[in-house]
Amino acid sequence: MAGLQPVRGTQDLLPDAARRHRQVSETARAAALLYGFDEIVTPIFEFTEVFARPIGEHTDIVAKEMYSLEDRGGERLSLRPENTAGVVRAVLSNGLTQSTPLKFFYSGPMFRYERPQKGRFRQFHQIGVELLGVAQAQADIEVIALGQRILNALGIGERVVLELNTLGDPGSRAAYRGALVSYFSSRRSELSEDSQRRLDANPLRILDSKDAGDIRINSDAPAFDQYLNDDSRDFFAQVRDGLDRLGIEFRLNPRLVRGLDYYTHSVFEFVTTDLGAQGTVLAGGRYDGLVSLMGGPEMPGVGWAGGIERLAMMIAEPSTPKRPVALVPVGEAGEALALTIAETLRSEGFAVELGYSGNLSRRMRRANRVNARAAVLIGDDEAARNVVTFRDLDSGEQEEVPMVASYLPELVRRLKALDA
Ligand code: ATP
Ligand code: MG
Repeated sequence: MAGLQPVRGTQDLLPDAARRHRQVSETARAAALLYGFDEIVTPIFEFTEVFARPIGEHTDIVAKEMYSLEDRGGERLSLRPENTAGVVRAVLSNGLTQSTPLKFFYSGPMFRYERPQKGRFRQFHQIGVELLGVAQAQADIEVIALGQRILNALGIGERVVLELNTLGDPGSRAAYRGALVSYFSSRRSELSEDSQRRLDANPLRILDSKDAGDIRINSDAPAFDQYLNDDSRDFFAQVRDGLDRLGIEFRLNPRLVRGLDYYTHSVFEFVTTDLGAQGTVLAGGRYDGLVSLMGGPEMPGVGWAGGIERLAMMIAEPSTPKRPVALVPVGEAGEALALTIAETLRSEGFAVELGYSGNLSRRMRRANRVNARAAVLIGDDEAARNVVTFRDLDSGEQEEVPMVASYLPELVRRLKALDA
């Protein structure tokens, strides 16, 4: 029954996993608000062109990983593989370019046709932030500080390392690209097949290759450092100084280039060794050319995205929800009363599990299975006497408490004392 299997690379988030995901996204959202980043929600699909040119025709994402389709109206659409292009599209569509700086937080599903493995899925989820309209290094520093704060708040700040590099401004980048092309061309036949293709399209990406032969060739490649012009060098120094001032540790990684075409200046990744090969949990950079590339005005930007699945694997077990109170009616009069009592208790803030059917012992088993803190038993006899039986399920003690209509002040007092 192939139809009953989830699609390869997708997964159901059962309640425990969903709770972990929510812990990540809510922690991030709360931290983002402290920096003035408000939430934006854009569609999960866009016209294919929203992604294709900005991300780059020759990047892995666009060349190999996009889920694209033609809809019934003949429109070419793609599921979003990342959200920066979508956010910029939203800024342009909504005419927000006059009100900079713009600061956005997002959280939601992304889609890439990749080989699924631990920490790598075809539908995955990202948190992310974008800061548009600020050319100063301050923006890079704040955006990185926010990433670090979120990792700290999730309790994993000590288990990740911030790696940092610069790609310089477009002039520096072009000079470096030229140097790389001539170096790699001289060793073309030694490169992996993938990297031979990258050589024409996206030579910087070769530095990012996981192929053992490529890695050897990369170790002799010219370093970016020599090709940075003074402005780019100065900008990078400002970013590093700012991070130093905030006590944010980083490791310079001259091989860090990132997959997308639109990055300039700062690029960074928060990396852990805890997750095997899929060690990057949060990554981003500055993308000063992106807005104009997409048809908007010249507008600088910087941002990052974090993988919720990878972060969720690293955090401690989130606290479970409050233990419920089980209502256990026995007999018809009890059943009728149970519904009203359940509502009364919920209004008081208790989580209430209603035993829907079965005899007393079956309903008590159910109460144990949902880990109820207390049970409230309502038999016909009790209903006739206007009482209910309150049972502390941890201690096993029980006693009758009075009921006036469905008003149960004494019961509420006792439940509150249990902190159920
Ligand atoms: P990788 O090198 O692991 O493929 P990437 O450079 O393609 O990552 P980005 O586009 O920078 O990833 O996305 C930011 C973050 O989103 C990554 O650091 C990672 O945590 C997460 N991520 C990316 N792709 C996936 C995926 N297929 N499944 C799960 N998480 C992912
Ligand atoms: Mg990838």
